[in-house]
Amino acid sequence: MHRRIIAPGALAAASLLLAIPASAASYSPGAPGIGDPYYPNYGNGGYDVSHYDLRLQYQPKTDELQGTATILARTTRDLSSFDLDFLLDVSEVRVDGAKASFTASGEHELVVTPKTPLAKGTTVTVVVRYSGVPSTKSAYGFSTWHRTPDGAVAADEPEAAWWWFPSNDHPGDKATYDVSVAVPDGTQAISNGTLQSTTSKLGWTRYNWRQNKPQATYLATLALGRFDITTGTSDGGVPVINAYSKDLGDNDGAARASVERTGELVDWLSGYFGPYPFSSAGGYVPNTTTGYALETQTRVYYSPKQFANGSNTSVVVHELAHQWYGDDVSLKHWKDIWINEGFARYAQWLWSEHEGEGTAQELADYVYASHPADDAFWTVAPGDPGADHQFDAAVYDRGALAIQALRNTIGDDAFFRILKGWPRTHAYGNASVADFQRYAEQVSGKPLSALFDTWLFQPSKPAAPSARALAGAGTGTEATRPKSWKRIEATNDVHGH
Ligand SMILES: [Zn+2]
Repeated sequence: MHRRIIAPGALAAASLLLAIPASAASYSPGAPGIGDPYYPNYGNGGYDVSHYDLRLQYQPKTDELQGTATILARTTRDLSSFDLDFLLDVSEVRVDGAKASFTASGEHELVVTPKTPLAKGTTVTVVVRYSGVPSTKSAYGFSTWHRTPDGAVAADEPEAAWWWFPSNDHPGDKATYDVSVAVPDGTQAISNGTLQSTTSKLGWTRYNWRQNKPQATYLATLALGRFDITTGTSDGGVPVINAYSKDLGDNDGAARASVERTGELVDWLSGYFGPYPFSSAGGYVPNTTTGYALETQTRVYYSPKQFANGSNTSVVVHELAHQWYGDDVSLKHWKDIWINEGFARYAQWLWSEHEGEGTAQELADYVYASHPADDAFWTVAPGDPGADHQFDAAVYDRGALAIQALRNTIGDDAFFRILKGWPRTHAYGNASVADFQRYAEQVSGKPLSALFDTWLFQPSKPAAPSARALAGAGTGTEATRPKSWKRIEATNDVHGH
């Protein structure tokens, strides 16, 4: 991974150079980071966003994006200035209607100094006018803006917003969104939530998308290009909107044969996780050269490569499982990634079992047996893997193995009550691995510290027998490879770069 070279000191120093008005001695600059141990400069301190209104215009031929972002926020301390995370060129910033001064700082900070300092606990409206060619911008030497033959896509983790809208870029600050994008007639603009309307004027078509439930910034997505859009409603009543690039070539059939099953799979997952939490579901497949898929809220991003070997319902199950585990209930800090990936992987195991291609226990046996004790696999702790190993295969496979160990320890009744109760308990919020442990202990009535420590935090292969089924299983040393294994492993580059 090429994206982890971060120098925290430089940015903090730059922000502190700003003058503090003499009349406001108690007011000081907001921090350039929200306080994430893995990514010290991601997000910002001193305020909390409730809504992003993005009014954009995009020209696919030149990759020129221009827009106005109106951000509704509330201050959480007295602020003389505050940061947004952003890379494009800013022409004007207004805070509560008054022109503010602003300057770029560090790798991706936009430091805004309002005319009047902001008192703690007040609502603030920030307007940012901007333009630029996102594909020419980079931070830390990388870009996550993906050009396609007919446009571009913003979908990446843990960062994608910097290339298309100014934000408090951390899952700890979720907000609702209106995304309105004008593109030349014949081009479509895809984003999260529901399509409220489209209008056409003078050769441009404007798409108005609304995400009415809280959404993390990395789960906001934008796709610009020539798409076939399909719509429907699942048996369970969930509206589905999917989109396919018109030039997917040989992958076109397999992509549609997979993503068109979104409604069916949302309903199937609802049986385990409870009611679907959002106003719509769906996915889109742009003509990118990337390899991964991403659980962008209500509108999952799939690289065409996910369908190079034929239809792939397993990856669709994985990304849809994230709508509950990751999107509805988001992590508190990036170290809590197991809350997302362990459960999305486990959903693939449940789907394998449903399809008769290997039970969850057989998959757990296989993971356990296929990594010897001296395999580096066991040195990655899914409960706190480190930024460099945040998307390591162990976070997925060992993470799901830990869930099977939990299931075997507390029994199916408590286990499935937890799977369904967790999204309801933390709906539209944030939670940590520790929160999950507490919840599991509360529902099961069992102390689980030792179990969680062994399976999620120790850098060694657990000897504990809880990986085994409670009854009737073999020795776990000669597990056979379940039929679904290859397909499930192929989603391991889900977040690879
Ligand atoms: Zn995932």
